[in-house]
Amino acid sequence: MQKIKIELTKNPKAKPTDETNLPFGTIFTDHMFVMNYDEGQGWHDPRVVPYAPIELEPSAMCLHYGQEVFEGLKAYRTKDGRILLFRPDQNMARLNVSNERLCIPAIDEEFCVEAIKTLVNIEKDWIPSLEGTSLYIRPFIFATDAHVGVHPAKHLLFIIICCPVGAYYPEGLNPVKIYVEEKYVRSVVGGMGYTKTGGNYAASLKSQDEAEKQNYTQVLWLDGVHRKYIEEVGTMNVFFVIGDEIITPALRGSILSGITRKSSIELLKSWGYKVSERPISIDEIVEADKNGQLKESFGTGTAAVISPIGQLKYGGNIMEINNGKIGEISQKLYDNLTGIQWGNLEDTMNWTVEVK
Ligand SMILES: *Cc1c(COP(=O)(O)O)cnc(C)c1O
Repeated sequence: MQKIKIELTKNPKAKPTDETNLPFGTIFTDHMFVMNYDEGQGWHDPRVVPYAPIELEPSAMCLHYGQEVFEGLKAYRTKDGRILLFRPDQNMARLNVSNERLCIPAIDEEFCVEAIKTLVNIEKDWIPSLEGTSLYIRPFIFATDAHVGVHPAKHLLFIIICCPVGAYYPEGLNPVKIYVEEKYVRSVVGGMGYTKTGGNYAASLKSQDEAEKQNYTQVLWLDGVHRKYIEEVGTMNVFFVIGDEIITPALRGSILSGITRKSSIELLKSWGYKVSERPISIDEIVEADKNGQLKESFGTGTAAVISPIGQLKYGGNIMEINNGKIGEISQKLYDNLTGIQWGNLEDTMNWTVEVK
């Protein structure tokens, strides 16, 4: 394994003192991990250096053609002061899935988990301790070739930055209002929907903006071909409880394979619930709502963990789910996932990795 060089900052920043009010993604820690890729050399020079602006050629390819991928995970401080990561191997494996699609050379997954641990260990005093807070970790890779021309890059940078973040819902789990997008689509099978790349988000900005103007939190995407099958929510995978079946759209290549999604399925199955990964149409949801069978709906993702959906708007049809309250299954999943992540429950699945 390559050795990570470490250069500590001489000017540490003041850490936020009010942990009740940490914004998401605007405060960055003192250091970042950086590694270069150059054709012929492979990934090289892994290092932790002071967090600082980077220099790029205006012709850097990532700025023109969007050859970029990223990941998102968290470090959690337990009550007894240990630091845990949640399934970081899964994030690095997914990063390589994204890399493959975007012609980015594969990273060494095990080494990159070590890089995350090294960085988090250096930044451990930045991890807040108030309940629900954590250190958000953002690994990303982008093309730096100075070349206005469309081809896979020969030079790239891999960087990891960290931000202390507050509880996603400081007042507890508040069900969100979601709007079903009928005009725009996020991706299609054959595109990049299953990767974590900036381009997918660029494609979503306009409808997200429209949803917010109408007082909705996020949009629910329908498939790009039939405009019929449910895909996912803006930054989350989505689940529906219809009768005694828990349904989430199958992975067909147009949606992201969320680690919270996967973990939720594994937990629900271990508790004996009937979980189906299958195509589910918006008409099936509307029908279930009419028949009183639509019991719960929730989104899953690292940022909010579980986000209950209290209202779904599809055209003129406004569906109130579980009277706008959090459902039993959503609550149970939230309690168990966060219990494991913050070390308050026994990690029977062996999902957490301690940083020391
Ligand atoms: C990151 C992401 C998710 C959630 O994935 P997790 O691994 O659970 O955090 C879902 N959908 C999209 C589009 C995402 O980018």
